[in-house]
Amino acid sequence: MVEIPDSHPRKKSLLSRQKIVEGSSKGLLADSAMIAHGRGEAFDYLLGERTTESAREAIRESASRLREANRPVISVNGNTVLLAGKKALRLAAVLGCPIEVNLYYRTPERISGLLTLLEEQKLVVLGESGPERFEGNWGDSVRAVSLLGSSPDFRIEGLEGPRSHCTEEGIGAADSILVPLEDGDRCEALVNLGKEVIVIDLNPLSRSAKMATVTVVDEVSRAFEGILHELIANPNRVPTEWDNASALSSSLGEINKFLNK
Ligand code: ATP
Ligand code: MG
Repeated sequence: MVEIPDSHPRKKSLLSRQKIVEGSSKGLLADSAMIAHGRGEAFDYLLGERTTESAREAIRESASRLREANRPVISVNGNTVLLAGKKALRLAAVLGCPIEVNLYYRTPERISGLLTLLEEQKLVVLGESGPERFEGNWGDSVRAVSLLGSSPDFRIEGLEGPRSHCTEEGIGAADSILVPLEDGDRCEALVNLGKEVIVIDLNPLSRSAKMATVTVVDEVSRAFEGILHELIANPNRVPTEWDNASALSSSLGEINKFLNK
């Protein structure tokens, strides 16, 4: 790995790129993963590379909806595991839910490579003391997180081919799905199945962002951290009547504000 000096003004961004490049050379990502990452970077630039006030609202809403769900699941792709796998695991431990590796360009090799990486990340998270003010046994909660995706036995209705495959135990039976960087078609199909779909996507104009029940327009690592913090800091908050179209237009407003500052 190339050493990036602490003083480099774009250190964070360069480190993220490095993770994607390395994941790609290990065969964990489809070729299009870099294009998706670049598109995300561009929108993050326009948002000022921070969690905006409207994203903060969506984070609060997502946390309360995931807490209220009967069967939540976190669906992850390669970019998410590489950029924020440990954060996904911490969130799953607090929510008491599984993580499912679900790829648009599914191959058994990439699924098993990403599951192995998640197992390694799980050992790291297991060695931590857990978030401050977390009530419960951290080790037990982390150990209880199932990592799904290797044996798909369910199909998402309305989609064709490998991208429709998932597990019944995870996405199939879930009533609420937290899914960063999802494709618009799959997001729509999940919503059509009557599921609550909480999308994390830096592009407020993407089809996923528009189709979702709640869209968090934020970078996936920041969004996971925000949801985790919210779950612990405000355990009694309840879901609201969420107007996602209006939240998305606030996100566009944040870009405008940032550019005109
Ligand atoms: P859609 O299918 O929803 O219309 P798309 O085809 O434009 O979207 P995809 O490649 O399907 O794009 O999905 C990738 C999405 O993930 C992009 O909208 C991109 O902005 C977003 N994205 C990429 N990296 C990140 C990241 N680190 N955090 C949050 N979002 C990201
Ligand atoms: Mg797409």
